[in-house]
Amino acid sequence: MTLQLRTRCVFLGAPGAGKGTQAKRVAAEAGIAHISTGDMLREEVRSGSALGAEAKTYMDAGKLVPDQLIIDMVKARVERPDCKAADGSSAWILDGFPRTLPQAEALDQSLTGADALTHVISFAVPEDVLMGRLTGRRTCSKCGAIWHIEHNPTKQDGVCDKCGGELTQRSDDRPEAIGKRLEVYRSQTAPLLAYYGDRGVLREIDANRSPDVVFQELLNAMQ
Ligand code: AMP
Repeated sequence: MTLQLRTRCVFLGAPGAGKGTQAKRVAAEAGIAHISTGDMLREEVRSGSALGAEAKTYMDAGKLVPDQLIIDMVKARVERPDCKAADGSSAWILDGFPRTLPQAEALDQSLTGADALTHVISFAVPEDVLMGRLTGRRTCSKCGAIWHIEHNPTKQDGVCDKCGGELTQRSDDRPEAIGKRLEVYRSQTAPLLAYYGDRGVLREIDANRSPDVVFQELLNAMQ
């Protein structure tokens, strides 16, 4: 393992930039928690909870769910035991949070001195590439593995190579919702690049390369 257990990192990037795929891999390599707010919300939807029902209307339309809902969810999540290293310090990768300035400010306020962010990594990918990645993305309904019908296909159509689970297309990976999600990224999330740039914690990586190359660069950036 090459990363420090005390890593507290935000992965920033447009939908389809590869944050989720890389966050899973880096978190497994480093033995730290991977916190994906999108995955948490999809789990709420699957479980049929009231929160899930509320979130689904926003998600299917490609919009962001209200800030306070997501801020409360993340605050509770980072308190769970898998987010703490043996010495009591926090260690995690946030994937998909924060996505707005109020969320970034709430995160800053909740992280006291010793638990401050160590890295913010921005995943840069041209918009035409993002479109192709999102429309072809398929997710395993059982283990959550992410595939792509052209760039990373499974051996058998619609069946996960890792666990045999059924592959599904996210309801917000359809063209109608994708356009909205990219617009929301530009207007609400992209301003966070300046926010973190001003704080001196931002590092941009070119994520329009093979997953293995991006993974190695991430490990270097997060040392
Ligand atoms: P993701 O899997 O990260 O692309 O998230 C899927 C959807 O969940 C987004 O399009 C939003 O509707 C919602 N979502 C996830 N994270 C956030 C967040 N930090 N703030 C608001 N909405 C979010």
